[in-house]
This record gives sequence, C-alpha cells and structure tokens, in this order.
Amino acid sequence: MAALPKKRPQEVTLILGKLKRHFGKTLENASMEHIYQACALCVRDEIMDRWINARNKVDKEGKKMVLYMSAEFLIGRALVNNMINLEIFDKYKAALDYMGVDIHQVEQEENDAALGNGGLGRLAACFLDSLSTLNLPAMGCGIRYEHGLFRQRILDGSQVEMEDNWIETGDVWEVENPEEEVEIHFGGEIHEVWTEKGLKIEHYNYSSVLAVPYDMPIVGYNTKMPAALRLWSARAKNNLDMTFFNRGDYTRAMEERELAEVISKVLYPEDNHEAGRQLRLKQFYFFTSATMQSMVRRHKNLYGDLHTLPEYVEVQINDTHPTLAIPELMRILMDEEGFGWEEAYDVVRRMFNYTNHTIMSEALECWPKDMFRLLLPRIYTIIDTLNEKYCARLWQAFPGDFEKISSLSIIAYNEIRMANLCVAVCKKVNGVSQIHGDILKTSLFRDNYVMDPEKFIAITNGITHRRWLAKANPPLTKLIEKHIGKGFLTDYKQFDKLEALLDNPEFMEGFIAAKEENKRRLAGYVMEKQGIEINPHAIFDVQAKRLHEYKRQLLKVLHILYLYNKITADPASFTQPVVFFFAAKASPGYVRAKNIIRLINAVADLVNNDPKTKDILKVVFIENYNVSAAEILIPATDFSEQLSTAGKEASGTGNMKFMMNGAVTIGTMDGANVEICERVGRENMFIFGATVEEINQMQRFNSYRPGEYYEKDAELRDVLNKLIDGSLPGVNERQFADLYHSLIFGDYEKADQYYLLHDFRSYINAFNRAVKAYQHPEEWYRMAAYNTARSGIFSSDRTIREYNDRIWHLEPLKG
Ligand SMILES: *Cc1c(COP(=O)(O)O)cnc(C)c1O
Repeated sequence: MAALPKKRPQEVTLILGKLKRHFGKTLENASMEHIYQACALCVRDEIMDRWINARNKVDKEGKKMVLYMSAEFLIGRALVNNMINLEIFDKYKAALDYMGVDIHQVEQEENDAALGNGGLGRLAACFLDSLSTLNLPAMGCGIRYEHGLFRQRILDGSQVEMEDNWIETGDVWEVENPEEEVEIHFGGEIHEVWTEKGLKIEHYNYSSVLAVPYDMPIVGYNTKMPAALRLWSARAKNNLDMTFFNRGDYTRAMEERELAEVISKVLYPEDNHEAGRQLRLKQFYFFTSATMQSMVRRHKNLYGDLHTLPEYVEVQINDTHPTLAIPELMRILMDEEGFGWEEAYDVVRRMFNYTNHTIMSEALECWPKDMFRLLLPRIYTIIDTLNEKYCARLWQAFPGDFEKISSLSIIAYNEIRMANLCVAVCKKVNGVSQIHGDILKTSLFRDNYVMDPEKFIAITNGITHRRWLAKANPPLTKLIEKHIGKGFLTDYKQFDKLEALLDNPEFMEGFIAAKEENKRRLAGYVMEKQGIEINPHAIFDVQAKRLHEYKRQLLKVLHILYLYNKITADPASFTQPVVFFFAAKASPGYVRAKNIIRLINAVADLVNNDPKTKDILKVVFIENYNVSAAEILIPATDFSEQLSTAGKEASGTGNMKFMMNGAVTIGTMDGANVEICERVGRENMFIFGATVEEINQMQRFNSYRPGEYYEKDAELRDVLNKLIDGSLPGVNERQFADLYHSLIFGDYEKADQYYLLHDFRSYINAFNRAVKAYQHPEEWYRMAAYNTARSGIFSSDRTIREYNDRIWHLEPLKG
C-alpha cells in the first residue's frame, strides 16, 4: 500500500509558534536547544491549566495534603516523561518527524535535574510521580540547588568532578513565586521577657536571608492532580546592602549578598554520609523553616485556626535532613502565634512522620551542640526542652538505667542526634524494606520499639513504572501494551497478566527482540560517548549505583580479575563473552571510593587489551551515572548486580528497576533483594553470600579472619596479589596497596569490614550458575520475563498506597 500523504500535525504549528515568539527563529535557523525549549514551552502550556485548577480545588474542598520534605529530589529529565504522562508523546513525535527532527535528539538537549545523590533522592522523585498519578494532594519541599550533583568525567582512569548547571535548560519547568517569599533568621541572641501574656521569647541581632519558592509541576500519568515540587532558593534581604554601597564599599555589599545566597548554591555530594558541616545545617534550617512558615501562612489564610493543622496536613520527612521542621513549627506556634508548650506540642506530634534510610553510624546525622546553638539559638532551646521532657518519659520506661537513657536521648555528649529527635516526636517511623524494618526494631530503635511498638512500621520502597518502564524501555512497553493493554500503567496489579504470556511464543519472541534492541541502543551509546566497541551478543552484566564500600564494587572487580587469571591460564576454562558495566559516582572526598574507580579502569585496561581475554571479557565504566544514563543502561541488562553486604543496604531501588526491565538479579539477602526473592523464588535469581544473621554472629564473637581465606584459597590469593604486583597497567605499584591491606589486615578488627573475602567463593558460584542459565536461551528469557511479570508490586504506586493507608489517610481528588 502506498504511504498516505502526510498531513501536517497541529503540534507543528504550536512548536513553530514558540520558536518564533520566544526566540525569533524559524525551523531553518533554530538550534536543537531552541527546539527543545519550544517543545518544553508547548508541554508546559498543557500542564498549567490542570495544575492551577487542581490546586484551587484542594483549597476549596478543604482536602488534606501531604508535604513530602526531602533535602534531595533526583528528578532527571522532564520533557519526554511529561509527554508520556500527558499522553501526548506520539503526537509530538509525529510533529517532530514531520519537521525532520529526531525527538530523541531534542530530548538530549535537556540537562538532568540532579538535585540528589542516589537512591534517597530518586525515591522522593518516584513518590511525587505516584502521588500525582493517584490524585493525592501533595507537595514536595526541598532546596533549589543552583548546582546539583557534579558531572563526572573519567580522565586517565580517575574521576574528575565538573560543575553541574541544570538550570540552564531546567528553568522552563519552574515558576518563581516571589510573592510567597519568607524570611529566615540565623544567629543572634535570645531574651526571655515577661509580658501580661506570660513569658515571651525575643530574638535579637540575627542575620536574615530570604527564601524564594520556585514551583515545578510534577505530572503523573493521566492525572487530575499534578503535584508541586516547591524548591526554595536563598536570596539576600536587600539586593545590595545600600549602607555599604553608599559608603562606596561595593565589595562589602557584594560579600553580604554572596554569604546569603551561598546557602542554596550547591548540593553536598555525599551519599550515606554526614560530615557535620555548618553550611549543611544552614541548608537544612533554611528549607525547613521556609516550608513551615509557608504552611502556617496558607493554613491561616484558608482555615484561620492553627489548632486544626493536623486535620489538613501530614508531613513526611525523608531521612533526618528535614528534622528541624519539628522544632521550627514549635517555635512559630509558640513565639509567633501565642501557643503554650503543650498546645504546640499536641499539634506537632500529630503531624510528623519519619522515614529512616540507614543504620550505618557514619550516616546518622549528629550536630555539635555549640555550633548548633550559635547558629540556631532559639531552635536549640526548643530541642533542649524536648530532650528534657523526653528523658522524663524514658526515666518512666527504664527507671535508673542511665546508660539506656543517655543512648536514647536527643542531646548527649555535646551532640544533637536527629534520628532520636524524630523517634521521640513522630507519629510513625518507617523502615524502607521488610528486613530493614526488622533491623530497626531489633537494633537501632530496639528500646524505642519496646516503649511504643505501634509507632514502627516497614513500607518497602518502590519505583515509578512510568519512568522506569514506559519511558526507559519503549520496545518492551509496546509489547506489553499490545498483549494486555495500557491498564497496567495506572494499575500495577495488571503486571500479573504477563505471567500467562510466558507460554506465548509471540510474546516471548517480542521480549527477546526488545532486550536485543535495548542492548544495541546501549552499545550505540557507549560507542558515541566513549568510543568503545562492544559485542551486543555478550551477556550484559551491570553494577550501577553510587560508589560505596558497602555496595561492594570491589567484590565485582576481584571476580573479574579471577576470570582474567583463569582465562589467561587456560582459555578453554571460560568462553562465554561478558561485558561488565560499572557506573558510579564517588563522593569527591571519599578517597578509597575514588581509588576503586581508578582500579576498575586499570582492570578494564588490562582485560580489554590482553589478546587472551579481549574477545571474551570487556569492562566498561560508564561516565556520569545519572537518571538519564540509568534509563539507557537498565533496559539493556541481563545480570543485575546487587552485592551489598547483608544488613547494609536498607532497601535499594536500582534492584527493582532492573527486575522490572527483565534482568535477573545476582544478589545478597539484603534490603529489597529479599522481597524480590520472595516474588520470583530462588530458582529465578542467584542468591549468594552471608546472611544478616551470619554477619551478626561473626561480629558478636569477633570470629571473622579474612587472612585465613587469603592463606587457604590460592586463587583468591592470586587475585589479591594482582592489586600490588605491578600487573595493572598505567598505575604505580603502590596505587592499590591501601585496598589490598584493607582486605587482609585493615586496622585491627576492621580488616575486610564488608566481608568480601568471606563472600568471594559464594559469589563466583552464583555468577557461574547465572552464566549456565544464560546459555539455555529459552529457559533464560523465561526467567527474565518472569522477573518482569512479578515486578508490579515494586511500583511506587503500591508504596504510596501503603503510606496513605497506614500513615497519611488522604482522599484522592476526584475529577
Ligand atoms: C535508582 C538510582 C539509584 C539507586 O540505586 P541503588 O542501586 O538502589 O543504590 C542511584 N542513582 C540513580 C541515578 C538511580 O536512578
């Protein structure tokens, strides 16, 4: 049949109109970035009406809403995601096709909004998508970092950090609301004054910073209720301090301004680590105070009486970073609104809920008391009183047990412990997977659990399957839609329908074709970005996540060296081609993590260039891991590497994204891996390594001796010796001596803290089982497709439903 003449789609007119009016361009002289901007402006128009109507409706109908407070939102790109959720992607693709423009090239003009480090920030982004899709009234509240997470380049095998400038292309999505700015106070002194109305607190000599909100619409799938992401930006109170300026002291005037604005300048690049830096504390108070002030202002305008706040607002705090919202709301209610202590506390205790993300001590947020008191004198006195009253309660529960009381108290040893504050005040405290919830009850919050068992719950994390399947994996999505329709996009339970299709040859052929297409797409990406050629028929083995010792990228490296030794000794011993992909940013100050990146690249040099291994093994380090890179990597994966030491990864969400895209997990019994295993069974994933119980046992009896593994296992010894015997190209022999020593000797009892040598053999065994399974394509793809079919429960729609049923009790907005 002859092709019908192409009709000019209506969207062409819209895009050309934006090009002309906003940039004075025609299609002929517009740059790709202009076309991106023009498309974004068109999509924005489609969002605005819905957004404004929904907000008005929430106000008019007096609906309860949730404030999801988080220091991080790892959003990624918005353009294509918004098009898919608005169900206008096909129309815009057709329009751009008509104009001779590739929509995927347009897409790449947008910088990722990387206002987060890793899983914690990405969770917040997935939650906003689900809240919006479920039509639950919600606002995300955070910081408008001018510079998000650094961009990573690899130069001569090492990580180099470069400035991120997401706002250059991200600002089309935000609306500045200067009329809603609030003032934040730092430093100064507190005075108590007696008035007719009783004791009054006055705050003098503070310095002021303005917080200006920028709101970004978060469009869920076919939503009636787009959520708002409200990000606060710091601004000096007087644009330039005119007193200095008029005295001719121009630089002093500029300095004052910069000191204020530095607060929202940059995201701290540490994941699962808190260093107690003053500017970080300023950031946290800045956005929590701004959020509480604007919440109070809105409530007074709409409802008048602040006693009813808990009936209209739930606050969820994502990790402890937003904890200061609690004493800040106490301050506003008491010092500005005339509430008494008990009256204010009764409001606060009914509003706040806390999500814990880790039990690792280096990641628990503690502040030096003196620094805190100087920066936030009034907030300090409120926390001090909270602590006193809490200790009195603890005394009732554990009379005379000073040790226990001091370990549970909010202030002790000149430190303020934010997790303890949260547990003392919040209505619900949740872990992020079942095993993590259990660990909270038996270790970190054991004694609190005894006092108040109802408070502690576990809600397993999730991922939005709109971004992580519909957006990231078009061929698999098309296939699924063809067989079960589009209902699964808003009803995760319909993933179950895929199970019946595992016996349908047409579906299975389509499944394999989709995986192959995604592997070719990744191979093209690696060629284009890094000039590396890879075999798309090899196994694609992927470990993509922040670089952290507990995540054990080093275990994977030891395994690759093991295979290298094997093949160079006997080429017949391993013949299955595998490409090992790593993608990971290391915190710039985390020396050992950066050295592991250097090691991965040295090992890549070794195995990719040795004629004995180069056609079998390939190691690729994907630069600048972010949401957009994940969207390319994950759909192309065969083996999902989830190797954390048991007990250390609270949940993981990368594991869920891989599973949903039909990768099979090689993993420890940690975090949500445990629940993936419950869903697919041990026969459809590859479990290895020590369990939490086994690790606890070794710790309790101090019985772990990594040196014994080194002595007894000659192959392991040969692998470890590779780190220091000069075999690795491009580095000096001392480069990895620290890694070598940390595994075998370490500091006294800290040798191999993460049990790599313990799990080494068990890992090799699991990997070999996976390779064997892969070599039977029919069974393998059935296993992979089964993983997809069983992944619906890891949709963040399920997670948000649970938060709503068990904590928030919001009603969805109806059309
Ligand atoms: C999902 C995701 C993460 C979290 O990965 P884990 O394996 O759960 O640590 C980190 N970074 C990005 C860009 C992600 O998309």
